[in-house]
Amino acid sequence: MRKNIVAGNWKMNNDLPQTEALIADLLKQNQTSRAEVMIAPTAVNLFQAFHNTINSNIEVVAQNMHFAENGAYTGEVSASMLKSVGINTVILGHSERRAYFNETDELLAKKVDTALKNDMRVIFCFGEELSDRKAGNEEKVVGNQIKNALFHLNASAFKNIVLAYEPVWAIGTGETASPEQAQDMHKFIRQTLNTKYSEQVSQDMSILYGGSVKPANAKEIFGKPDVDGGLIGGAALNAEDFYAIINAF
Ligand code: PEP
Repeated sequence: MRKNIVAGNWKMNNDLPQTEALIADLLKQNQTSRAEVMIAPTAVNLFQAFHNTINSNIEVVAQNMHFAENGAYTGEVSASMLKSVGINTVILGHSERRAYFNETDELLAKKVDTALKNDMRVIFCFGEELSDRKAGNEEKVVGNQIKNALFHLNASAFKNIVLAYEPVWAIGTGETASPEQAQDMHKFIRQTLNTKYSEQVSQDMSILYGGSVKPANAKEIFGKPDVDGGLIGGAALNAEDFYAIINAF
C-alpha cells in the first residue's frame, strides 16, 4: 500500500530562530489525517530541526545534496553528512535546482544513485514548463525526465523513491494545476512505471503533487485517486495552513 505524504519545502527561508519558532508552532497543531509529514529546512538548520522534532511524527528532510561521497566541492553537502545529523530523506530535482543551478537529468541520476547507496529515501521532483504544456508536450517532457534520471534503477530501488510532479508554471505562482490535470499526469506517471517495471512498482509508488497547494484547494487535489500527497512551498511556512493541508486527507 502506498503512503500519503505531505512535505513542506521551506526553500531559502527561515534562519535558526525562525526555524525553531515554526517547528514549535507545527508541534502545537493537531493532526487528524494519517499522512506522513515532512519538513525541509535549509541545510544549515537541519541538525537543530532534527533535534527539535525528535519525539514527534515530523520527519526532517534535506532540500538537496551532492552526488560525490566527499571531496573538493566547496559549499556542497554530502549524503553521509546529512545522515550524520539524522537526515534520511532528500529532495532531488526541484525545478528551482534545475533552473537556477543547471541540474540536468544526468546529474540527478548520479545524485539519486548516491542517495540510494547511502540508504536514503529520495523525493524526486520533475515537471513541465508552461511552454511544454501549451505545446501539448507535457507527457513527453515528464516521461523523459523520469526515464533519464530513474530508469537505470532496479525495480527494488523504487521502494526508496517518492515522486513529486510539480508543473513549473504552478510553483509559487498562485496558479494550480486543476485536480483533473494533476490526476491525468499522475495516472500517466503510474502507467509509465507499469510499462517499464511492473504493476506492483506503479501501484506502490507515492506520487505527490506540488504547485500552489493551499488549504482551499488541497482537499480536491488530494481527493484524486492517483494523487498521494503534496510537496508544499509557500503554504508550508505557516503552521496552521500546513496542517490544514495535511488534514485535507
Ligand atoms: C515547491 O516549491 O515545491 C512548491 C510547490 O511551491 P509552492 O507551493 O509555493 O507553489
